[in-house]
Amino acid sequence: MTENLTELPATGGAYLLWLVLDRSLTVPRRRAGPWQLPAGHYAYCGSAYGPGGIASRVSRHLRGDKALRWHVDHLSAIAPIAAVLVDPGGHECDLVDWALGLPGSEIPVKGFGASDCRRCPAHLIRFERDLSRRDLALIGRTRRRAGILWTPGRNGPTNGHPGP
Ligand SMILES: [Zn+2]
Repeated sequence: MTENLTELPATGGAYLLWLVLDRSLTVPRRRAGPWQLPAGHYAYCGSAYGPGGIASRVSRHLRGDKALRWHVDHLSAIAPIAAVLVDPGGHECDLVDWALGLPGSEIPVKGFGASDCRRCPAHLIRFERDLSRRDLALIGRTRRRAGILWTPGRNGPTNGHPGP
């Protein structure tokens, strides 16, 4: 069942962040040359099965002031997260599959967020144009358990703001 979430579930599962990057971004890497991400709209797929589940992990992504621990932190620290799709009990690679099936999808850099994954070219997908809410809702509908949280547009505490 798809629903507009009013709060993030504390259960384990997969999530998709819809990020809006209004300028190009350089993401440093420890043992290789940096990644260059052009401006655009991005879907990042991850999973959270630790304590606090999806709520804990996504809340961290939504904070602008955080230690830059993962590559995606560089992105989520400056790019507003416009929407979050959650799939309790789900797998991040399935969300990657769905996002890659949407029109205009492309892999901006190989391996981003997927260093331990043998299935996906990356867990970060780029779109030149904005995805409509209907497109994202479609992912949610197809993934039966998924729900969508619309956020106000800037990083910050967003639980309880389903958006217009
Ligand atoms: Zn994967």
